[in-house]
Parts: sequence; C-alpha cells; structure tokens
Amino acid sequence: MSEKNYKSELVGVLGCPVAENPTIVMQEAAFKALDLNYRYLTIEVKPADLESAIKGILACNFKGINLTIPHKVEVLKYLDVIADDARLIGAVNTIFIKDGKLYGENTDGKGFLKSLIDEAKVDPKGKRAVILGAGGAARAISVELALAGVEHITIVNRNEKRGQELVTLLNSKIDCKAQYASWNCTFSIPSGTDILVNATSIGLYPDVNEKADIDYGTIHAEMTVCDVIPNPPRTLFLKEAGKRGAKTLDGLGMLVNQGAIGFKIWTGINAPVEVMKKALIEEFGIF
Ligand code: NDP
Repeated sequence: MSEKNYKSELVGVLGCPVAENPTIVMQEAAFKALDLNYRYLTIEVKPADLESAIKGILACNFKGINLTIPHKVEVLKYLDVIADDARLIGAVNTIFIKDGKLYGENTDGKGFLKSLIDEAKVDPKGKRAVILGAGGAARAISVELALAGVEHITIVNRNEKRGQELVTLLNSKIDCKAQYASWNCTFSIPSGTDILVNATSIGLYPDVNEKADIDYGTIHAEMTVCDVIPNPPRTLFLKEAGKRGAKTLDGLGMLVNQGAIGFKIWTGINAPVEVMKKALIEEFGIF
C-alpha cells in the first residue's frame, strides 16, 4: 500500500475585495490536471491586517501567495527579496517562500510579454509602443517591454501626474525612450507605432460596450494591438483593431500566462497552460 500524505501545500491570493478574483479556477484546474496536492485559497485581508496575514502565511508554511488590490504596493515592506523588475514596477503580485524568506515577483508584465512573443510572435526589440493607461497594468507592461528592448514608448493617460511619473521611471531607470501624451480628447495613434496596448480598465465586464477614445482610423494592418481585459477577451477595442487588419492579442492569454509563471515559481513544474485557459473560458462562459 502506498504511503498516505494528506498534507496540503498552500498557495492563494490576499485581497480586499477578493470574492470575484477568478485565479482559483485556473490554478486549481492545473493542480488537478497534474495530480498535485496543492490548494489555492482566496482570502479576504483588510489593509490594516496585511502584516498579520503575511506572518500567518509564513506560520502556515504556505509555498507562496498572490497579492491583489489593495496590497500589491504595501506588501513590499514585508519582503526579504524583491526581483529587480518588480522593484522598478513598484508592485509585487506573487510571493514565493523559501527557507522562511519572502521573495517578491511581478508576473503581470511578464505574462503580457509571453503572450506577445509566443502567441502574437512579436519580438519587442527595437519596436515602438503606445500604451493607453498608466496604472498598475500599464506600469508592469511598459517596464517589461522596456527591459525587453522596446525602443520607444508613448504613455497616454488622462491623469498627467501618473503618466509623467511612469515616463520618468522609463527614461531614468531603463534604457528606453519614453514620452507622455495627454488624453483629454480622441487620441490619434502616431504613425510608426508597432505595438498598441489598452492597459486601462475600459471594456471590462460588465462595461462591455465601452471602448477607448482613440481614432480607430489611425490603426493599420502592420500594428499588433493588445488588450489587458481578460473578460470578455474580444473587446470592442480589439474588434475595431481587427477590422483594420491589425494582429490582435487579448488579455485572457496574459492572465493565463501570468498565472502559469506563478504556478512554475511555486511548484517548480511547467504549468498546463491550455488546461488553465480552458478552465477560465468555461468559468467566464465565453466563446
Ligand atoms: P489602475 O486602477 O491601476 O489603473 C487604471 C488605468 O486606467 C489608469 O491609467 C486610468 O487612467 C485608466 N482609465 C480607467 N478608465 C478610463 C477611461 N474611461 N478613460 C481613460 N482612461 C481610463 O488599474 P490596473 O492598471 O491595475 O488595471 C487595469 C485593467 O487591467 C483592469 O481592468 C484589470 O482587470 C486589467 N488587468 C489584467 C491583467 C491580465 O492578466 N489580463 C493583469 C492586471 C490587470 P487615470 O490614471 O487617468 O485615472
């Protein structure tokens, strides 16, 4: 008879609110597919309780944890080691624990980059990118694009202060030319743009009829147009870009890839990416 082991290896997410975070669906599907005795817990932690929660995951020997709103920045002060890119982004969404030490990573931008390279078959090196937005997703994506050798990034944002801060970060800390463009009226995509990314929350379910205020006539067939919105994956933004012949990349792939990177960090095993994607598609009721 084989030796019994009922012990669970614990991972999960800390957030507030967190009830609608779908990550459990793809991670549990992956654990099941590979017959791993891991459990992904969706845990509500109020901002004032973050330090206690971090001590708790250490005490319970968690393998690691994801952070979501509002903990991604605040958690930095509790970590022993922070990856260089996560430090530049200024936020951590994935922790792994080794020998009682907390290591912080940011997998959002890496998930985007993996989608861009593997799915859209685009090498970012030497390309010109336009990013709509300057929040957490935009920071992660632009830092990873800059580190991957993108030549020029235009940050388009309504809030000028947030946009300028990101531009300053890209220009001063990474070898990449960046500029800010205000977004107080319909934005025309500059000619010569290779990669256009909607990194705002425009179009996220249930606001599926919203689309970014840009001149869609300035999108052309040589561009790769990407959206961070995972649900629905075919946003109006991507539909309009598709009509102009552009290659499109949805946010579902980014979501799955960032989760797959976390899975590998925690388990040491390559993630079953297709299983994870299928689980989310079923959960969202799409396609
Ligand atoms: P933040 O709140 O940090 O930033 C939101 C950004 O969107 C800001 O730049 C804001 O501009 C801009 N914005 C929002 N509404 C509008 C609007 N109507 N017009 C113009 N700009 C607007 O959010 P995050 O960056 O964390 O998240 C953004 C989106 O990315 C979310 O929908 C999230 O679901 C998605 N995401 C997807 C991931 C994936 O794996 N697919 C991973 C992480 C996030 P301003 O500064 O002017 O207010």
